[in-house]
Amino acid sequence: MSGGLEIPVRVVAVEQATPTVRRFSLASASGEKLPLFSAGAHVVVSMQDGHHRIRNPYSLIDRAPDGSHYRIGVVRTPNSRGGSVFMHERVGVGSELVISMPVNLFPLVHAGRKHILVAGGIGITPIYAMAEELRSRSQRYELHYAMRDEAHGAFAEELVARHGDKVRLYRDDRQEVIRVDEILPNQPLGTHLYVCGPEGMIDA
Ligand SMILES: Cc1cc2nc3c(=O)[nH]c(=O)nc-3n(C[C@H](O)[C@H](O)[C@H](O)COP(=O)(O)OP(=O)(O)OC[C@H]3O[C@@H](n4cnc5c(N)ncnc54)[C@H](O)[C@@H]3O)c2cc1C
Repeated sequence: MSGGLEIPVRVVAVEQATPTVRRFSLASASGEKLPLFSAGAHVVVSMQDGHHRIRNPYSLIDRAPDGSHYRIGVVRTPNSRGGSVFMHERVGVGSELVISMPVNLFPLVHAGRKHILVAGGIGITPIYAMAEELRSRSQRYELHYAMRDEAHGAFAEELVARHGDKVRLYRDDRQEVIRVDEILPNQPLGTHLYVCGPEGMIDA
């Protein structure tokens, strides 16, 4: 990708993953390969709404192996001032957006002996990328993913298919809760914990 801190992109696919989450595939408008990124990275998506520019960060789920596109997942936020609703209502295949270069404020610590990944709801987006990176490096990990119910498990099927018994799913409608206090004891020294999800989950 030549120069510049921003990348004009075109939406090449949109998928309604759950009643509230859409996944967008973003390809560089110039046709050039998109930059590599490390798991946990996000891009800032700029949306032009008339004279108003909205800029929201979205985590990168993955990059096509040929570098042709990134995937992001956007939940439609209740009481939104605009960004997620704009993505859901105004962005479709062929739409043009601008994204920043990937930035990573939530990187994996590869020196860790084991990695416990915990995600709730849309918090799965950076965690998805982390699980892929750990798998590709043959590192030890487990993934705990909580969702409202089966319909809201945006990535559940895909994750189980790719990571098998390393994934454990929890459903709110079955009163299943991630018990970090039960997961953490007996892990090897040097285990790292990564959490992304709603405030209540992070507090717990
Ligand atoms: C590093 C990072 C990565 C992220 N990755 C993802 C991702 O992968 N997927 C994803 O869906 N989101 C992600 N987000 C969140 C995303 O950037 C947006 O915040 C989200 O889409 C909501 O944006 P919005 O413009 O629709 O909502 P906003 O209008 O910004 O509203 C956000 C919240 O503020 C409240 N609010 C709105 N208006 C008011 C008001 N007047 N007074 C008080 N409260 C108000 C709303 O109730 C809502 O809960 C990420 C955020 C960060 C920082």
